[in-house]
Amino acid sequence: MKKDSSLSEGLENFIDEKVIRTEMEKANNPAPGLIREILAKAGERQGLDPDEAAALLGNRDRDLDEAIFETARTIKKGIYGNRLVVFAPLYITNECGNQCRYCGFNAKNSDLDRRTLTSEEIRREVTVLEDLGHKRLLLVYGEHPRLGPDWIAQTVRDVYAVTSAKSGEIRRVNINCAPLHVEGFRKLHEVGIGTYQCFQETYHRPTYEKLHVAGPKTDFLWRLHAMHRAQEAGIDDVGMGALFGLYDPIFEVLGLLHHARRLELDWGVGPHTISFPRLEPALNSDIAFNPPYPTTDHEFKKIVAVLRLAVPYTGLILTTRETAAMRKELLEVGVSQLSGGSRTYPGAYSDPEYDRPDVQQFCIGDSRSLDEVIRSIVGDHGYVPSWCTACYRLGRTGEHFMELAKTGFIQKFCLPNGLLTFKEYLEDYASEETRQVGEALIRREIENYPDPDRKSLLTDRMARMEAGERDLYL
Ligand code: SAM
Ligand code: SF4
Repeated sequence: MKKDSSLSEGLENFIDEKVIRTEMEKANNPAPGLIREILAKAGERQGLDPDEAAALLGNRDRDLDEAIFETARTIKKGIYGNRLVVFAPLYITNECGNQCRYCGFNAKNSDLDRRTLTSEEIRREVTVLEDLGHKRLLLVYGEHPRLGPDWIAQTVRDVYAVTSAKSGEIRRVNINCAPLHVEGFRKLHEVGIGTYQCFQETYHRPTYEKLHVAGPKTDFLWRLHAMHRAQEAGIDDVGMGALFGLYDPIFEVLGLLHHARRLELDWGVGPHTISFPRLEPALNSDIAFNPPYPTTDHEFKKIVAVLRLAVPYTGLILTTRETAAMRKELLEVGVSQLSGGSRTYPGAYSDPEYDRPDVQQFCIGDSRSLDEVIRSIVGDHGYVPSWCTACYRLGRTGEHFMELAKTGFIQKFCLPNGLLTFKEYLEDYASEETRQVGEALIRREIENYPDPDRKSLLTDRMARMEAGERDLYL
């Protein structure tokens, strides 16, 4: 094992491989009675312990797998209703000093065209995204010594500064960048980022050390404690993740749950979101073309369902790495946020030169436009797409948000607010076809809304939207 760098000296490794192995061994092909007991507990929305999640993942009975999916569907519906948060990633730089063996941005990949957006280029990208109807962006960065926290903070300011015609503005900027020191995170907090996102990639330390060949990312513990430092800096919405395909998927899920627990223990609040990218082909990466631990679609669906049961109030994020067909399945069993119309190369939204699959970070599985994605989630699934950012703008974040989420708040505020942002999208950005399907959904949702007072507030706001007002929420 590599020696810890000075960055992580003294940091505790709270991912205990032995504990996880024991949990996995005990969970191998568990008795049907145990699975039913765990599902009954999950139904109470109190979450699951890692060993219980391991038992569900270790189950090999297909009928019981169906019962797991069914429970996940019920919990998802109970907590989130049929609302789905929509965002787009915006790649700011692909310059990177690390050598992650699975990533096209690997410093040694000399075939990749390197690009870092200027303020003007950011403005162009954001304008295109706003004109499509986006309100929530996830900014993505390679890790380069020249591009530190001051520069990252400036790019966030650049994004928030862009407003365009109609209701064009970005209302929440989330960040996916390398782990920073507490002072660096403070700078991001000061410019008003929403969630700080950082994936551990693999919780199996020997695998981590094998796959991260050079650069600051070689330090497992420095990365493992990134969320703790972000919390210390005042960023209380943090997003974790694992890159599926690098190591045993059950180990990774348990790693995520132990990490989540530790955050809850130390900061009183678990992760705001969890992401579970699956390894996709990437330029000049042998690993990305041949994942050492490929996850089948069935296993992957089960992972998403078990996460929904284990951390019922945590947002589960799905990206366009997955195909349209797979995305449909995963929405049903637990996903609460998804991206649409994504490009994974800096500049690719506004510059056709970079809008080619061969230059992106990895291959996109779902290349439909945002309008097509919206039409499908509304028309095929009856979901309400939401661009709502009310909680974040009213300071309902971190522990505060989690407490509210547990008391039915999501149904009371998030659904009406989501409907209002959807109305805004339909008024300003949707194609005629999408508008028709969308208006029909809004009418149905209002008709079925149970609370008469809030229903009349909602009807009033909808009328004001039609009269030209924007950015209304409850
Ligand atoms: N450079 C930062 C870091 O590594 O944390 C953030 C940006 S990185 C582009 C964002 C995420 O992309 C990584 O955390 C990794 O999980 C994911 N990723 C890298 N290569 C991938 C691949 N071939 N397929 C799917 N996801 C990949
Ligand atoms: Fe760089 Fe992040 Fe890609 Fe690693 S995953 S090479 S750190 S961009």
